[in-house]
Amino acid sequence: MAKKESNEKRVEYQDCVVTCACGNTFNTKSVKKEINVEVCSACHPFYTGKQSRGSKTGRVDKFNKKYGFEN
Ligand SMILES: [Zn+2]
Repeated sequence: MAKKESNEKRVEYQDCVVTCACGNTFNTKSVKKEINVEVCSACHPFYTGKQSRGSKTGRVDKFNKKYGFEN
């Protein structure tokens, strides 16, 4: 674990289950145990291939390769 910054708030990060309105769930770290979101990386238009930015999913990578944007 990385050493905490002295000015960091004293919060306990724990395993968090994020539930999206689309039905997708994924795990992250948060001060909360559960989070509900309206969009996620699986359903947000930003991540579904219409935009070339974003790198959290492999879809963008495939998109870039498909259209020759790699490198
Ligand atoms: Zn979603």
